[in-house]
Amino acid sequence: MTTLIRGGTIVTEDKVFQGDLLIRDGKIEGFPAQADTDEVIDATGKLVLPGAVDVHTHMDLDVGIARAIDDFYTGTVAAACGGTTTIVDHMAFGPKGCSPWHQVKEYHRLADGNAVVDYGFHGVLQHVDDSVLDDMAQIAADEGITSFKIYMTYDYRLDDLDLMKVLTRAADEGILIAAHCENHGMVTYYRERFVREGRTQARWHPVSRPAEAEAEAVSRLLYLARAAGEAPVYVVHLSTRAGLEEIRRARAAGQRRFGAETCPQYLLLDEALYADPREGLKAIMAPPLRRQADRDALWAALAAGELDTVATDHCPFTFARQKQQGAQDFTKCPSGAPGVEERLALLYSEGVAKGRITLPQLVKYACANPARVAGLYPRKGAIEAGADADLVILDPEKTWTLTAQRMHGNSDYTCYEGMPIKGMVERVLLRGRTIVCDGSFIGARGDGRYLRRGKSALA
Ligand code: MN
Repeated sequence: MTTLIRGGTIVTEDKVFQGDLLIRDGKIEGFPAQADTDEVIDATGKLVLPGAVDVHTHMDLDVGIARAIDDFYTGTVAAACGGTTTIVDHMAFGPKGCSPWHQVKEYHRLADGNAVVDYGFHGVLQHVDDSVLDDMAQIAADEGITSFKIYMTYDYRLDDLDLMKVLTRAADEGILIAAHCENHGMVTYYRERFVREGRTQARWHPVSRPAEAEAEAVSRLLYLARAAGEAPVYVVHLSTRAGLEEIRRARAAGQRRFGAETCPQYLLLDEALYADPREGLKAIMAPPLRRQADRDALWAALAAGELDTVATDHCPFTFARQKQQGAQDFTKCPSGAPGVEERLALLYSEGVAKGRITLPQLVKYACANPARVAGLYPRKGAIEAGADADLVILDPEKTWTLTAQRMHGNSDYTCYEGMPIKGMVERVLLRGRTIVCDGSFIGARGDGRYLRRGKSALA
């Protein structure tokens, strides 16, 4: 089976050029002068990008008080419609004391046969002993799960001693440690105090998780990684200028094996959304939305190449029911928001079309670098001979309005309701096959393949 994508403007992280793209048996073959193919797709006037890679989703996440409303089917249909052809999902915690294998098996049960885009998993560590560390190495070898998440807050947080054990082993094994960086003491102090004082409206949520909590934890993670022999670490969902300063400090000090991710919500939304006690529940997430100055700093960091990726932290709940658990008390609100479908459109419209980042930078942050971080590059995230033919054809001129109604996930809201968007994902190919056409999903449940990942480029 051969397909020619003709007349488009091809975008890679290095360049933008006119060309035809030949696909054979699901792989990119090259840029032929002429070709006689089974199928021809006319991309005249359109941009042709690598399928986007989202390395931070939470499909079917069970957080105890609620379960994310998208499973691996609906969540990946939403991803596909937004131009994302690969996800690497962050697992929920398993039962107390379980081996890391427990959730690996559980997530295969949830995803296999359901996902419609290619998928991998980050492992999760919720306690540390010798057998957990051995399991981590074994899971990396057997399953191609070459990254593991640790939390510096929540019930299953790891303390500094545990982190040293994990990081030292990760450095030896070439495993990437992804970290949720917030100082647990600061957050717990404010949450307990605000509940005691009756300050339980949504507007107290960002105050309870101050920028200092993120910056301190980012700083500590980076120092611990360095002390553990330059262990490879990855800061997920960086949200503050203060946290960014710690990234800059480490880089200036010569530390190299680390990366940092931000998300569209930290670039485009801010804590003003918490002013309304009802509407504010939609944006209850951790870390919280920040200030305009933080948004500006994160955009500037993307423009300057100081961050590595833009992921989503897609973790959707319904506003009508699930989010209402926090109506009287923000600490009881399930934490998270949808975003997997919105990401590429937002980055194009608010980033490229508004001149904050370039087209190649869009590909770098949404496609190539996430694939590198996940150990999937250049099979994913690249337009080059031999890569999987995962492609997005985007109409750069089409304008539309972002609404929950247009989104394909199960949530009943989007944090970007009513936002005017320039640029529309028109067609999406997964391994050479069209799975989204004119904005409609035409793929099939279970077409996504499990990805055994190689070593992260950061490791
Ligand atoms: Mn997350």
